[in-house]
Amino acid sequence: MNFADSEVVNSILMEKGMVPVHSAEEADVIFVNTCSIRENAETRVWNRLKEFRSLKKEKQQLTVGVLGCMAERIKEKIIDQEQLVDIVVGPDAYRDIPNLLKEVEDGRKAVNVLLSLEETYADITPVRTSGNGVTAFVSIMRGCDNMCAFCVVPFTRGRERSRPMSSILSEIEQLREEGYKEVTLLGQNVNSYKYEEIDFTTLMDEASKRNPEIRFRFSSPHPKDFPEPLLHLIAERPNLCNYIHIPAQAGSDTMLERMRRPYTRENYLKLIDRMREIIPDVSLSTDIIAGFCDETEEEHEATMSLMKIVRYDLAYMFAYSERERTLAHRKYEDNVPEDVKKRRLSEIIQQQMSIQEKTNEKEIGRRHLMLVEGTSKRSDEQLSGRTDTNKMVIIDRKDYAKGDYVEVEITDSTSATLQARPIRKSSIKEFSQREQEAVVPG
Ligand code: SAH
Ligand code: SF4
Repeated sequence: MNFADSEVVNSILMEKGMVPVHSAEEADVIFVNTCSIRENAETRVWNRLKEFRSLKKEKQQLTVGVLGCMAERIKEKIIDQEQLVDIVVGPDAYRDIPNLLKEVEDGRKAVNVLLSLEETYADITPVRTSGNGVTAFVSIMRGCDNMCAFCVVPFTRGRERSRPMSSILSEIEQLREEGYKEVTLLGQNVNSYKYEEIDFTTLMDEASKRNPEIRFRFSSPHPKDFPEPLLHLIAERPNLCNYIHIPAQAGSDTMLERMRRPYTRENYLKLIDRMREIIPDVSLSTDIIAGFCDETEEEHEATMSLMKIVRYDLAYMFAYSERERTLAHRKYEDNVPEDVKKRRLSEIIQQQMSIQEKTNEKEIGRRHLMLVEGTSKRSDEQLSGRTDTNKMVIIDRKDYAKGDYVEVEITDSTSATLQARPIRKSSIKEFSQREQEAVVPG
């Protein structure tokens, strides 16, 4: 989401004649887009700002700004106490950046952290300066009204609001014209997308129908109100990826209730069953928090067992980090000792790695349509990309190039990556026809 926001900021700055440079040393203005979701995200920002302070000593004219979720929380601290930055801009105030830069030129510190009920930046076309030119994020809504007990997002990013479908579709069309092949639609709770009469399933339907050679993903849906028609649509449409990120957070009803996640273990597992019934090869990922307030050993075991039952293809696993202003901060106690949190998290991670290793092993011999995203990190002779099911694949370069859809056969696997033999250049349509012919005899 921050990546997408930075692209909006690029657009606002470039409109004013500014140009992006390749290193902090070359820059006249540096913005750090920040995340508050966990303490270590914030720690990284502080370290980065300290690096820039030494640059500022060498170059008097350098302006340093903080964007995004940390802005509200730390405006006094960073401006007054530490003199680290000149500008602080919250996630709904990016349009004001040119004015704020003028204030700085006049020798003042500039702050705008006002949250908005309407801002979606719908009319701003993001400028994608640091992506791979193949896969793009498109923000479809901002903010969140869910108020999960642990989460700071509703406080830093404000109320939920959706962007008009027409502006989303025209951004996607432009991406297609620029050669992009994959779009991930972004929101904190995409299944509550609603603009006038348009809901999330309708949006996915329109977007995928109009752009048959673009692959679509979305992040994140909430398990509480996942629309079943969307599952049928994913099953039918070859360009809606068979991959769903469906954050569970925890595996026991008592913990889910404390977290203010309005679903039960049973409902969640039923939803997973429906996903697998309707989309047989669907690949699933999740988010899990270890060591939330009052977590008992039984609750931890319930999370472990949920993960074992679902057998996720991928999981993002975190130790609970207390955030100011959240319900948990106000009403609960962050009382799971650090060593217990760490031990539980590492048990969760270890179990998940061994599940992934086995699941990926089963991929050997299967065929997938891979979208090539670029050169592999390990070797110039190899390319990397992902399957429709969001698994990282490596192939030999041969005559293939970034942006190609390649039919591949998986030859080897680890818990994190698949190795494959490229078979032929293909397209979404061609590959899905071949797959259908393979299952329907004659
Ligand atoms: N809107 C998304 C989540 C966005 S935050 C959703 O509800 O699915 C991404 C993930 O960060 C969350 O799913 C949660 O697992 C994790 N997270 C959020 N707050 C956290 C905290 N205080 N400590 C640890 N992890 C947290
Ligand atoms: Fe945070 Fe919950 Fe909203 Fe996700 S749904 S952003 S976890 S409050």
